[in-house]
Amino acid sequence: MHGFHQTSTRRQFGCRCAAFCVGVGTVANLIDDLYGAKSNQMEHLSTHGIADIRLLTTKLDEQHRFYEKVLGLPVALYDNELIVTAGATRIVFQGTSKADGAPFYHFAFNIPENKLALAQSWQKERTQLIQRGGKDIVDFARWNAHSIFFNDPAGNILEYIARHDLKNAAKGVFSPADILYASEIGLVVDSIPQTVKMIREELGLDVYRDNSEAFASIGDEHALLILVKRDRLWAPDKTRAAKAHPLVAAIRGLKPASFTMRDFDYRIHIDPALTDVQRRLMAEAIGEARKGAESGGVPVGCVLAKGERIIARGRNRRIQDGDPIMHAEIACLRSVLKQGGRDACKGAAVYSTGMPCEMCAGALVHWGVKELFAARLDGAPDTRVSLESRGVQVVEVSMEEPQKLIRQFQARLNK
Ligand SMILES: [Zn+2]
Repeated sequence: MHGFHQTSTRRQFGCRCAAFCVGVGTVANLIDDLYGAKSNQMEHLSTHGIADIRLLTTKLDEQHRFYEKVLGLPVALYDNELIVTAGATRIVFQGTSKADGAPFYHFAFNIPENKLALAQSWQKERTQLIQRGGKDIVDFARWNAHSIFFNDPAGNILEYIARHDLKNAAKGVFSPADILYASEIGLVVDSIPQTVKMIREELGLDVYRDNSEAFASIGDEHALLILVKRDRLWAPDKTRAAKAHPLVAAIRGLKPASFTMRDFDYRIHIDPALTDVQRRLMAEAIGEARKGAESGGVPVGCVLAKGERIIARGRNRRIQDGDPIMHAEIACLRSVLKQGGRDACKGAAVYSTGMPCEMCAGALVHWGVKELFAARLDGAPDTRVSLESRGVQVVEVSMEEPQKLIRQFQARLNK
C-alpha cells in the first residue's frame, strides 16, 4: 500500500470537517473477533485491545518508510500525520518540532502465541533486536509470555509479545498480518501508586500482575497500560531512561470512560462496542453519508435520536448548497427546528460518520446533546476532549464504511 499526501485536497475544502484524508487497511473482521471473543475465553476480561494510539515524532519521513517498507504495514501520510494500521490498532504519528525534544514511547503488539521464534527470524532480517543478557528472546515467566524488542527510527521501543494464555495460535510463517493489535502502551509518570489509584477510579481498569513503586501493569492481556516511573531504565536492555511525552490511547472496553493526566498530556479513552440499536442508528447515519455522496457532496452524515427513535437527520450539503457552514450536524440541528427545536435535543444522542468540527461540536453542546457516537476517520478533527469537558459522552467507533465513502469522494476529486 502507498502513503499519500492530501494537503491540496484539504485546502480545496477549507474546513477540517470535510477534509478527511483516508487511511487504508481492513480491521473490521479482527475487531469483530476481538469483541466477539468476550463470549468465550475472554469473558472475565475488561478490554479488547488498543484501538488507537496517537504519538509525537520528529522523524515523520523515516517513520513512514520504516512502517511501510520494513514492517510492511498499511500506512497513509497526510499533512503532518502518519497513520499506520497495525492489525486492529491504528497508530497515528504526529509530526512535532525538534524543540520538543525527541519523543519516544514503548508499545507492544500481540502476535500469535506460537510464532515468536518465527517472528524473531523475520524481524532480524529487517532490524537489530534489542537483547537482554545476549539473548533476543525475553522470557516473562510470570506473564506466561515471550517477547522480542526492537527500535523504530524515532527510537520507540517496539515489542512483539507471544502471550501463551491467549488461544491465538496460528499456522504458517510469520508475516505482518500476524501483528494482531497493540496490547501495551507505556505511560511514564512520577507516582505509580497515585496513577494506579486514578486509573482504577476513572477507567475502572485494575492491576494486572505488577504493582510496585517503580512499575505497574494495568488492564489485561489485550490492553495493558504499562506504568513506569520517570527515569527508570526501559526494558529489556535497561540502557535508556524513561521520559514522558504526550500521548492519546483508546482501548476497546465495555463501558465508556476517559482519563486525562494534564501534567503529562496523557489521554486514555475506553470505547465500548455498539449495541444492536446503536449499530442500527449508526447505519442510518452512514445512509445519510451515502445519499450525500450520490448528490455529489461530502459524504458525512448523522442522525439525532432519543433512545431508538430518530428525531432528525442531516448530511453535509456544503457543496450542494454552496453554504460553508452546512455540515452534517448543522443540517441535522436545523431540521430539529421544525420539531421542537432545542427541547427535542436535550438528552439526545447524535450518531455521526465522523467526529464533528469545532463549530458543530459547539452547536451540539449548546443544544443539549448528551451523547455522541462517531466513526473514527483518519484526519478527522480532534474535538473529543472539548466535547467531554462540556458534558458530552463520546464513543468513537472503528468502522470501514464511513472511511470508504470519504476515500471514494477524494478519488473523484483528485481525478
Ligand atoms: Zn462541522
